[in-house]
Amino acid sequence: MDLFEYQGKQYFSRFGIAVSPGDVADTVEQAVEVANRVGYPVVVKAQVKVGGRGKAGGVKLANNVDEVRLHAGNILGLDIKGHVVHRLWIERSSDIAKEYYASFTLDRPNKTHLGMLSAQGGVEIEVVAEENPDAIAFLTIDPVRGLDLATSRRWVNEAELDEAAREQAAELLVKLYECYTKGDCDLAEINPLILTPDNKVHALDAKVTLDENASFRHPEWEEFRATETEDPREKMAKEKGLNYIGLDGTVGIIANGAGLAMSTLDVVNQVGGSAANFLDIGGGANADVMASALEVINSDPKVKVIFVNIFGGITRVDEVAKGVLEALQRVSIESPIVLRLDGTNAVEGRAILAPHLNEKLITEPTMLDAARRAVAFANA
Ligand code: GDP
Ligand code: MN
Repeated sequence: MDLFEYQGKQYFSRFGIAVSPGDVADTVEQAVEVANRVGYPVVVKAQVKVGGRGKAGGVKLANNVDEVRLHAGNILGLDIKGHVVHRLWIERSSDIAKEYYASFTLDRPNKTHLGMLSAQGGVEIEVVAEENPDAIAFLTIDPVRGLDLATSRRWVNEAELDEAAREQAAELLVKLYECYTKGDCDLAEINPLILTPDNKVHALDAKVTLDENASFRHPEWEEFRATETEDPREKMAKEKGLNYIGLDGTVGIIANGAGLAMSTLDVVNQVGGSAANFLDIGGGANADVMASALEVINSDPKVKVIFVNIFGGITRVDEVAKGVLEALQRVSIESPIVLRLDGTNAVEGRAILAPHLNEKLITEPTMLDAARRAVAFANA
């Protein structure tokens, strides 16, 4: 789960990491109220879960009430890379002498944690990595040993942070590591981490991804979950217990097994179509599951055709066929359905469907044939 910047900063605070005083605002009036409270100048910041807000006009300095009104009014409702701004974070503006970059993330192939630190912050780290890779000091951290202050001090030296920043940064990085590990993050990133002209180091931005596998030991994450804006299709699928991920295409996909579902997306793509979703109905695809799957896909206005791709193993195709027919009695589907049914009891399954086939309920013998047929409908 990704956090908004303001939530990331709240999370940082719990681990003693310095951030600027501020508060959230959902309206221009609230923005004014917060700005008056924290004191001018302030920064008005769009709260969207996407980077590059500054460049997109989502981060503005305001010196007085009028400027707060202006910027808050402009930023609320702004579309930043497809994310519409509904909430602002207003904080006391900082003077900046230097911008650094700091993060911890998982190095999966290496089975360690990975720290990245750079004296060239403020810009996207991918750009630094490409144009000036030596400017990033990488630190591999054994998860059992953790990060101690001595190691952190060596690290800030290696990254060549300014002398005045080093001790504070070393201490802050140990805290950020605590936040990352004890706080069960997949990513804890500060960009920029700043040095002020009066030699204070603190976090000006916060990008935090929480590891959902650890949610059982963090009941307090509920407050973060409450502000998640979910894809309505994914919300519906979750309520129905389906393994569904929404995509942008026009071919609705139902398959059994994650591997087959992924291959189905590939094949649809290969023959010139685009998948509207990933959906793995798992083993034992009975009528209930099939009806739920069809309902969720049917609710997607972009879907023009539904491709049901089943390879029966433990799942028996005759059961799937019955499930499809029963589901069609319960849910009225507007889009044509193309089925590819193979594997255990495929012959029996196809026989069950045979009397019901028509121009909107079609079977094809192979995955490729079915994909072509489905894509022809989608692109018609
Ligand atoms: P991002 O563009 O989404 O990464 O948003 P950031 O929170 O990183 O802000 C973008 C840029 O705005 C930063 O790199 C800073 O240069 C600038 N900025 C943010 N907060 C302040 C502030 O308090 N004072 C000043 N002077 N600049 C700020
Ligand atoms: Mn940033």
